[in-house]
Amino acid sequence: MRVYQFAKQLKITAKELIEICENAGVSGKTYVSGLKDQEMAAIKEYMKKRKLAGKPIVSTGTETVGEIASKLGISASEIIKNLSDIGISASINDRLGPENIKKLCDAIGVSVEFKKTRESYILGTAIETDKDLVPRAPVVTVMGHVDHGKTTILDYIRKSNVAAKEFGQITQKIGAYKVNLNEGSIVFIDTPGHEIFTAMRARGAQITDIVVLVVAADEGVKLQTVEAINHCKAAGVPVIVAINKIDKPNANPEAVKKQLSEYGLVPEEWGGQTVFLNVSGVTGANIKELLEIILLMGEMMELKANPERPGEGVVLEAYLHKQKGPVIDLLVQNGSVRTGDYFVCGETWGKVRAMFDENGQKLEKAGPSTPMEVLGASSVAVPGDIFKVVNSEADARRIAEGKKQANKAAQERVQKVLTLEDLQKQIIQGTLKELKIILKTDSIGSQEAIKSSLEKLSQASIEKQGPSVNLIHCGLGSVSESDILLAACSQAVIFGYNIGIDSKAENLSKQHGIEIKTYRLVYDLIEDVKNTLEGMMKPQEIEVMVGQALVKQVFKIGRNQSVAGCLVVDGKVIRDSKVKIVRNGKFVFEGYLSSLKRFKNSVKEVTTNTECGIGISGFNDFQQGDIIQVYQKVQKGADV
Ligand code: GDP
Repeated sequence: MRVYQFAKQLKITAKELIEICENAGVSGKTYVSGLKDQEMAAIKEYMKKRKLAGKPIVSTGTETVGEIASKLGISASEIIKNLSDIGISASINDRLGPENIKKLCDAIGVSVEFKKTRESYILGTAIETDKDLVPRAPVVTVMGHVDHGKTTILDYIRKSNVAAKEFGQITQKIGAYKVNLNEGSIVFIDTPGHEIFTAMRARGAQITDIVVLVVAADEGVKLQTVEAINHCKAAGVPVIVAINKIDKPNANPEAVKKQLSEYGLVPEEWGGQTVFLNVSGVTGANIKELLEIILLMGEMMELKANPERPGEGVVLEAYLHKQKGPVIDLLVQNGSVRTGDYFVCGETWGKVRAMFDENGQKLEKAGPSTPMEVLGASSVAVPGDIFKVVNSEADARRIAEGKKQANKAAQERVQKVLTLEDLQKQIIQGTLKELKIILKTDSIGSQEAIKSSLEKLSQASIEKQGPSVNLIHCGLGSVSESDILLAACSQAVIFGYNIGIDSKAENLSKQHGIEIKTYRLVYDLIEDVKNTLEGMMKPQEIEVMVGQALVKQVFKIGRNQSVAGCLVVDGKVIRDSKVKIVRNGKFVFEGYLSSLKRFKNSVKEVTTNTECGIGISGFNDFQQGDIIQVYQKVQKGADV
């Protein structure tokens, strides 16, 4: 039978039949070609399959060509042909992705429904929509000045927790705990204070949704209260004020409100936007209301997550346990973590062997806003590290290794992050609109004076379309770790006036590449800020070697004095310069070049390949073969 005749029989056009012939492996046919019985059988078989394949399929969007082919009931080679017809070239093991799967199905007339799976999320092929998101519990940090009652409030809340009652009390500390109320759940970060909050932020992890600022009604705003406020502002986290110790006879909540208003926390009843609550951690007064307000605020903030995604979270604490091995205290922020999941956590990785909540209860699955303990990491993680479920052991290893290398490279580059000079470059390029400053001084008086000068400078700079000064934090006393962390996460420079730097802070500043500028004169500090704002900061001076001379002979010219007969071997030698003497590859002396002679005459400078006599003040121990290196101060950043 000829092709066109067979087409008639099949009730399709001859053109369509020729196409089918190709797909069915009966190639090279024209309208009038003859078809053998065997060939006609193959065509019929193919068409039967096509019909079957007409049924809708469910795809995860992650299938390979081969897998899609078997879902469609069509051979892989045919699918490859179909794909090439629509301009997609792929081989049997290639993943097509949801878009191409849709195109393919459209082309062969099959409808496809996409199902989102953990794998499709991991591979990035699932597209999340609002429908996938469900509300999650707010995560709260309690901050405030020491002794204002943070721990007492947290303890009270913990004791009133339904779950805690059920299990007696919290059996293990995992950095955070969940409080279950009838109206919903809240996660409290267990360590009060802004240190953990800022430390996490400095590592790039934002864990807190809401901050409860505790201020004692009898003491009012104190140093750490202000610090906490500034940390919250810098992080853009909403604050609920709990005026504590309201049970005390000398409690004066109105005075606290007034003080806090000056820091921008204005109570609602005064026309502001901050919720204030009078509470007592001892009697429990208004703590229930505090929890309700947290839930309400969480609701208004529309805190949502997708529990179907593979789990993601932040490490709250990490340590090595004798029996359990490396332990991760994790706050799951999105998705769900399940036993058996492979994960990457900073530079480490592993397979979830077991998970426990704060009551020691084993978990099989942990959704968004769940604090828990995870076992199974291959080494100890670091607090603030991001935890992420991945597809396979191979992926986990590969990503962790990549992270390790990236961190190493970043460490080598760390120095370049935050010097005043860098910020100034950005000002010149017009990319920096705001110079963020953390100011530490020795007294309130000097602080006020500097603050008002900075305000004036800022105003003047804005008028000239320059960047403004944003004083993100002011404090008294030496530069602390907390200041460095705040600077690191806010891209700020630290200015100190008449104060020192804690040794821990000094180390941390090196790690984060944060510049700390300290001054003895207010004038110098203000000048530096002014110059920075104007993009005219004097470039820093650095020492560079400008020449070297080789000692050829030593002359004693007095009991305790000698000069060296030298040959300038490199660059030039300049009188009064700083010099270093190198002997057998080691520095043996550092000082100043006090006399320079050419023949009998004193000269200012001697250049390469010239003989000269060199005297160095305080040094008379020249030896033949010594190298005298000459240094000059030059301005760094002349390319600015
Ligand atoms: P933290 O340093 O902010 O964690 O403060 P603590 O929770 O340790 O409290 C410091 C002191 O204040 C303790 O002696 C508490 O008993 C006391 N305290 C805390 N809250 C209240 C309160 O609401 N009323 C009274 N009278 N004392 C409180």
